[in-house]
Amino acid sequence: MTQPETEEPWAAQRDASWYDRPNVRTNKVVHVGRPDSWSRCGRSFLDDEMTWDPQGVSESLRCRSNGCRQAWPAP
Ligand SMILES: [Zn+2]
Repeated sequence: MTQPETEEPWAAQRDASWYDRPNVRTNKVVHVGRPDSWSRCGRSFLDDEMTWDPQGVSESLRCRSNGCRQAWPAP
């Protein structure tokens, strides 16, 4: 893992390489990341090669599962 462990908030899509048949629609969901590269909702391992500033992630792409939902910055 190359992601430095900082307190900086970050967001990413799940790492689709974990799935045999990545679902394109589901792939567009962006999760808030934890330092260990899992999503805050605990559902997905994230692709830490391509991350976003959480502030810049559009409302419609944000993961709304418990954990991620509370982590998004207020608009
Ligand atoms: Zn999530």
